[in-house]
Amino acid sequence: MDYFFLFASSLVIIFALMLFGKYKKTLQQSNQKNDNLRTQKNEHGAVEFVRCPLCSTPLAKNEDMFSRIYRPMTTHDQRMTVHGCPHCYPRPEPGVKRMCPVCGKEVPLEGELIARLFNRTEGKKHVMITGCTVCYKGRR
Ligand SMILES: [Zn+2]
Ligand SMILES: [Zn+2]
Repeated sequence: MDYFFLFASSLVIIFALMLFGKYKKTLQQSNQKNDNLRTQKNEHGAVEFVRCPLCSTPLAKNEDMFSRIYRPMTTHDQRMTVHGCPHCYPRPEPGVKRMCPVCGKEVPLEGELIARLFNRTEGKKHVMITGCTVCYKGRR
């Protein structure tokens, strides 16, 4: 009787271990997927994904935005233009739309976003999108 009890309980333990292993594996897989994506901390200190300001696709660590920075790096307020990310420039992927976060209109492929880049004293860069080539026209 004691032996049977021992056998039964060891079976339960093995089963539990198997379940845990499976759970751990799926956990690792989802972590790996997120590890490839860029994250940043927002003003509230929460971690969020770095998304393309045009098509809002989360960017992977090996993906860079196509952008151009004007004026020397020493100024605190630089002008910057953003053409897009590898998902929406030079050719948008199927289903990917290039939208301006300011006016909400579609930005043509030859269009770009205009942004201001603030070099903060603590070494952090802050990008503020001021508009696209369509809605930025006329105001300066
Ligand atoms: Zn994009
Ligand atoms: Zn716009």
